[in-house]
Order: sequence, then C-alpha cells, then structure tokens
Amino acid sequence: MMIVMKPTASEEDVQAVIERIESVGARAHPSRGDEVTVIGAVGDLEHIERLELQGSPGVDRVVRILKPYKLASKQVKQGQRTVLEIGGRKIGGDHFGLIAGPCTVESRDQLLTAADAVLAGGATMLRGGAYKPRTSPYAFQGLGQEGLRLLAEAKERTGLPIVTELMDARDLEPVLEVADVIQLGARNMQNYALLSEVGRAGIPVLLKRGLSATLEELLMASEYILKEGNESVMLCERGIRTFETAYRFTLDLTAIPVLKELTHLPVVVDPSHAAGRRDLVEPLSLAAAAAGADGIIVEVHPDPEQAICDGPQQLYSDDFSRYANQVRAAAAVAGKAVLVDA
Ligand code: PEP
Ligand code: MN
Repeated sequence: MMIVMKPTASEEDVQAVIERIESVGARAHPSRGDEVTVIGAVGDLEHIERLELQGSPGVDRVVRILKPYKLASKQVKQGQRTVLEIGGRKIGGDHFGLIAGPCTVESRDQLLTAADAVLAGGATMLRGGAYKPRTSPYAFQGLGQEGLRLLAEAKERTGLPIVTELMDARDLEPVLEVADVIQLGARNMQNYALLSEVGRAGIPVLLKRGLSATLEELLMASEYILKEGNESVMLCERGIRTFETAYRFTLDLTAIPVLKELTHLPVVVDPSHAAGRRDLVEPLSLAAAAAGADGIIVEVHPDPEQAICDGPQQLYSDDFSRYANQVRAAAAVAGKAVLVDA
C-alpha cells in the first residue's frame, strides 16, 4: 500500500501514520519528495487495510501498489527518480556514472595503473573484484583480503569510490571497510539471504541481473534489499543467455527503457561481461548510454593480454580517456551529464 500525504501534512502526521503501520507488524518506508511525502507500507495487506488510514490527519489518499515489487516500483516514488550520491558522485536522474577498473585486483602495480588511468579519463568510480565468482573452482578466485587492502590504497590515492563484489556474507565486515558500493554479481542475484544481509548493511548496492533472470525477477531481488530500509540500489544489465553463441552474452538493451518504465532505481549497463570481446565494448557502451542508461560499468586493464581473468574483454587503460569521451557524448544525447571532477 502507498499512503500519499497531503502537501500540508505535518511531520507529526507522517509519524503518526508510520506508527500505525508499524503497530500491525508492517514496515513503513517514507519517501519525502519536494511536494509530498509518500509512505510505502509493506506487510500483510489485510492488516494494513484494516487500519483505514484514509481519513487520518494529513493523509490525502491510500493507493494499492499494483506490482509484486513494491518499493522498487515507479509508482511508489510518484515519478521521482532515485539519485544516489556516492562519495560526491551522483548517479541516476540526469546524472551519468562511469565505473571503470579491472575485472579483478591482481597486483598493486596493475590496480594502481588502472586506477590512475580511469581517474585521468574521468571515471566517477573504480571497480575491481577481490572476491571473484568463477565458473571453475580451479580458476583464480581473487586476492581476497589482500585485494581489499589494495583497493583501499587505490581509493586513498585517487579519491575514487570503490565498487567491489561481495559473494559471501562472512566477508561483509572487511568488504564494508573498503567498499563504497557492494556489487552483487549475476550468479548471486537470487541469493536472498545475501541480498537481505546487504540490505541491512545500508551500503549502496549494484545488483546485477542473473544470466537468465527476467526483469521482474531482478526487481523482486532488489526488493529484498529495499525492504531492509536500504534505498541505495542500482540495477545492472550485464547480458543474458540466449541461443546466440557468437559473443558471450546478449546485451538486453531493451531492458533499459523498460526498467525505467517499471522502477525509479538507476539502471547501469555492463558491456564488458555481455560482450566478452573488447571490440564490442565501445559500440555497446554508446548504444546503452544513448538509450538512457544511468551509468556504465566497464573493465579496464593496463595489460589485458596478461590479465588473470577476462583479458579479451578488458579495455586498454591507455585507451580509456578516448573511450570515456565517446561515452560521455552518447550520454549527453540522452540528456545526461557526467561529472568529471568531484
Ligand atoms: C564482474 O563484474 O566482475 C562479474 C563477475 O560480473 P557478473 O556477475 O555480471 O558475471
Ligand atoms: Mn570480469
């Protein structure tokens, strides 16, 4: 249910509604807009309906949220878009984010060289995995704690916020010490316990779409994070599995405008994992930015030929500035501005 308050409603009116919602064991998620406050009430529908909030002081109307995902639905924000501010960098609404860095943290030299290059090229955040989900259990699994330490050093050096993956709730504490955004990978999109845990941690989350997940499943997964009171969620289209085998995954560009119709959450696109090939990364990035994506997350490596994982898809760090200029121009076509200097 969605309780739309009157523009004249006082803070006491809002608090009173929240208390009544909570009194029946439901959760209240107030969202304070420029003109009105809207309170999402999530829980047992019958209990909430029995409260008869319609007619309470300050309440304008009570509306049912039609979609199965409630807090992620566009309806609950009354057309307002969520804009996240992470280390001074905005993403969402009119703000375009460019997240770049290596697939995985391999060494101090590799990470810092990539970090310097993406900073110089105007990236707004640095990516890099310390914990890697690998298809083979025999493949390199990431540097773990040592990788986190190197990410902390890169952050200190460049000032760039860090986006890094969490695979196991047992690593949450050390990851929280370094990460500005926790990435939940495609393979963990439906790890509901992990989603709830990260929701409770309250840190911004980049939630990747599962390899075969529908948009509704992606939105339902985001709901697990939102329901814990964590509103800082970005969705990430990273390619889905289709019958096509000429490239790694099929980048679902249609998901961009469709997600924007369904949700207020920012939509980020990962062209690297979708393509699996460097030559496809730029055209896919341009298409995604022009189609209205709120950001791109792209893999960049100083020496991709020597990369431990995903070498064939990582951009050369020497080429990043040129690439970033092209992407910014495409984002401008969609009416978005990219912050270059924080
Ligand atoms: C990654 O971004 O490093 C990654 C493993 O991506 P995905 O979960 O989309 O495969
Ligand atoms: Mn990768």
